[in-house]
Amino acid sequence: MKFETRSIHAGEREDPGTGSVISPVYPSTIFRHEDDESRSAEFVYTRAANPNRSNLETLVASLENGKNAAAFSSGMAATAAVFQSLEPGDHVIVSDDLYHGTRVLLNDIMKRWKLDTSYVDTTDPDNIIKAANTKTRLVWIETPTNPMLHITDIKKVCELAREQYWMVCVDNTWASPVLQNPLNLGADLVMHSATKYLSGHSDILAGVVITKEESEFFARIRSIQVGGGAVPSSFDCWLLQRSIKTLQYRMRGHCENAGRIAEFLKGHPVIEDVFYPGLPSHPGHDIAKKQMNGFGGMVSFMVKGSGDDAMRITSSADLIANATSLGGVESLWEQRVRSEPEGTQVSPRLIRLSVGLEHPDDLIADIDKALSRHS
Ligand SMILES: *Cc1c(COP(=O)(O)O)cnc(C)c1O
Repeated sequence: MKFETRSIHAGEREDPGTGSVISPVYPSTIFRHEDDESRSAEFVYTRAANPNRSNLETLVASLENGKNAAAFSSGMAATAAVFQSLEPGDHVIVSDDLYHGTRVLLNDIMKRWKLDTSYVDTTDPDNIIKAANTKTRLVWIETPTNPMLHITDIKKVCELAREQYWMVCVDNTWASPVLQNPLNLGADLVMHSATKYLSGHSDILAGVVITKEESEFFARIRSIQVGGGAVPSSFDCWLLQRSIKTLQYRMRGHCENAGRIAEFLKGHPVIEDVFYPGLPSHPGHDIAKKQMNGFGGMVSFMVKGSGDDAMRITSSADLIANATSLGGVESLWEQRVRSEPEGTQVSPRLIRLSVGLEHPDDLIADIDKALSRHS
């Protein structure tokens, strides 16, 4: 079945007692032990498995064309489970422009686990080969990256990784499963911060890992989910399933609005550069066109002048909230450096915009007004 159909029906579990078409929420942490063969023993205790969580896992596995999925209480918990499934002494190669939390996790926490990390510009896959050593086990790519929207050729990276028996995990948060399916391009795992587009309404914190095969590695991720216990609540899983039913249509709107705004920004006199893979001038445009079904809702841009200009502009909008995060129906922007840890390479003149589903004319008018506050 097609994506739209699966996003509405996959993982939906009718309640046989009432005939409800939509699955109820199962807040119960406990389920009776089966004492005859009349009921499956799938559910015993909610940390191990909950009906809403397994509905959500079935749904996201279907959307990414994977075999199985594990849902976590945040994108970072999902990311940590992937890295903790490696062995101390293993080496991972990671995109150098990436979500700052992933870098903090690797540098501060996984280093104590003795996981060795190399950061490389994965937009040129040759850099991956150069950074590899005999302990390399996993390549972690983010594309488009946060916050610079670098594009990595997923298929190319997966081909060279397969020759070397390395696994590839793609952080697919910014693209969403509507715009990009890394497992189809050869990746072994996909991670989403479900907090962003999958939720779509800035009111759920969650993450998922999806696997191409029922591998031994995925069994480790599952055991960290259940044994580590960083699981999402039944209500958050239920809400996510509800949100995902409209994901396809939301992404169309995000892409359409972002494309218009990127064009507007590109011609504006106070803007030095616009980073959006939908612009033909973007260095990753051709690869994005090949591996994505749309260019997404995130636009970053560099203002001329100083960091103070970026600060003033982001606090001068009426409609667009000066806030971090992304993927909601409401537009947000921020001077990105405010959310990055100390020592970041991000320029104080960079503004990161999450384009929402308001009317693009209203958004452009709001941006135009805010940009007039530039010195
Ligand atoms: C937000 C984000 C994460 C982290 O997810 P949380 O749900 O905040 O833990 C990871 N990767 C990317 C690309 C993100 O944007």
